[in-house]
Amino acid sequence: MNKQETEKIIAAGKILSQTREYAKKFIKKGMPLLEIAEKIETKIVELGGKPAFPTNLSINDIAAHYTPSYNDETLAEGLLKIDLGAHIDGWVADGAFSIDLENKEENKKLIKASEDALKNAVVSVKKQELVGKVGKIIQETIESQKASPIINLSGHSIEQYDLHSGVNIPNHASSEKTVFEEGIYAIEPFATYGSGRVYDGKPSGIYELIDLKNVRSPIARKVLDYVIEEYDHLPFCSRWLVKKFGTSALIGLKQLEENGNLMQFAQLVETTHKNVAQSEHTVLISGNKVIVTTE
Ligand code: MN
Ligand code: MN
Repeated sequence: MNKQETEKIIAAGKILSQTREYAKKFIKKGMPLLEIAEKIETKIVELGGKPAFPTNLSINDIAAHYTPSYNDETLAEGLLKIDLGAHIDGWVADGAFSIDLENKEENKKLIKASEDALKNAVVSVKKQELVGKVGKIIQETIESQKASPIINLSGHSIEQYDLHSGVNIPNHASSEKTVFEEGIYAIEPFATYGSGRVYDGKPSGIYELIDLKNVRSPIARKVLDYVIEEYDHLPFCSRWLVKKFGTSALIGLKQLEENGNLMQFAQLVETTHKNVAQSEHTVLISGNKVIVTTE
């Protein structure tokens, strides 16, 4: 990464931090998730970035991948995970925090476990460190607080316009030999009192471009052209496309999914339906420096 690219990575991180602090202040129990997502995404744009993916607002046993649909009526409650992304020219900052809207001891403890795991993990990241060592620190921190990490969710490397670019950072001890190199990584521990695994639930309305092949239907073509231009390989959602094209976008999305142009993510649900907390930061390893861009 050259100097200009590094500056964009840092600037995207600043936008994310400012948006996160803004969101912490306005989110209240009973607020529509739709309103929360739109306020967050509008703020990112006001600060000079673009949303790197649809704001995830996942409640209780949904660990990740819930974003409101265009006509969503769900209200904020329970243990809410707010996972947001900002990018500048495809250079992504990815960060998440959790809030307890019920004043429940159990929720607060889970949030603390995920936050402590993130803190301990981030300070242990360095060039040539084994990713499994950081995973071990995450697991030990969460287990020392009598909770479990979600072991089939992980952090990930990030490249330009590529949110999950190949390297996984496990949330548990692992003997794999992958090490951190120079580059961008998201570290994201999840803590639960459940079994510590998630399964694929309902479709999320969050999509990603996987194939540029031709499609015949005019609305599908229009949506595809827009997705290529606007999002490249970053995730996007049906809500954004309904805003742009009206509800006919939903037909286009369905056709593009059937045609194999798009893949749709599933909501990720904790297997034993116990609450889940998540904390996430993005780190940049540049030379021998490690910068937490979203701090
Ligand atoms: Mn995230
Ligand atoms: Mn992430």
